[in-house]
Amino acid sequence: MKLLENKTALITGASRGIGEAIAIKFAQNGANIAFTYLSSEERAKALEEKLISYGVKAKAYKSDASNYASSELLTTEVLAHFGAIDICVNNAGISRDNLLLRLTPEQWDDVMHANLKSVYNLSRQVIKSMMKARSGSIINMSSVVGVMGNPGQSAYAASKAGIVGFTKSIAQELGSRNIRVNAIAPGFVETDMTSYLNDGEGGGKWLHKIPLGRFAKPEEIAGVALFLASDMSSYVTGQVISTCGGIY
Ligand code: NAP
Repeated sequence: MKLLENKTALITGASRGIGEAIAIKFAQNGANIAFTYLSSEERAKALEEKLISYGVKAKAYKSDASNYASSELLTTEVLAHFGAIDICVNNAGISRDNLLLRLTPEQWDDVMHANLKSVYNLSRQVIKSMMKARSGSIINMSSVVGVMGNPGQSAYAASKAGIVGFTKSIAQELGSRNIRVNAIAPGFVETDMTSYLNDGEGGGKWLHKIPLGRFAKPEEIAGVALFLASDMSSYVTGQVISTCGGIY
């Protein structure tokens, strides 16, 4: 029996990077996958086909995580197609890095809406069916930057710290319904978001601070997500799992 057999997972922002790795890992472990993207239509379609090749149901949805009405519609459509949402991974996110003096109100709002409001948007929807089922696992993608801070990333760090407070609060609200809510706080992961790490200078200043001496692969974050999604973590809720190579 595979770890996520007969489960359906809804994953936001899975057309690339960490979300894509989580979708693949979950499908390999038997889960049906509903996932979202914003603009990467071709990559999303390719992923949908790949997931189906693992013998599970999979469907890509173009849906803006920062928009409340879109999240409501998405949940309705996924429930109609898959019949249940057992696991929700709030992964979609962006970075708009700038020192505070140059950080515009638009940049601040974009980051807050895409990274933090998005987690509220979808969590508020998926808990309705999870409460009826008296079962569920919600996984929110925070960041080591949310606890550590990082110059040039005040908006991003604030959004990721906000996810921690939100996660711990709703874990306490929903525990009695057997809905577990946890966050993952990755360090630096090799994806498009951190492509600046490849330019030697950008990455070099961090490498020597990471005890494991390297950046993470998206699959290494997906492994932690699999643990939190599955019954292997049935007594884990309200936690932030640091997955940062020991940097913090
Ligand atoms: P990425 O490679 O830039 O991919 C971002 C994904 O999110 C894409 O699938 C993108 O869709 C989607 N997305 C962005 N805005 C969206 C929106 N409003 N609605 C729906 N989907 C949206 O990012 P990543 O590095 O995989 O990061 C994934 C998550 O992990 C983020 O929350 C990020 O903050 C967090 N994280 C990343 C790192 C790291 O080092 N990479 C470290 C800690 C935490 P499109 O392809 O359609 O644009």
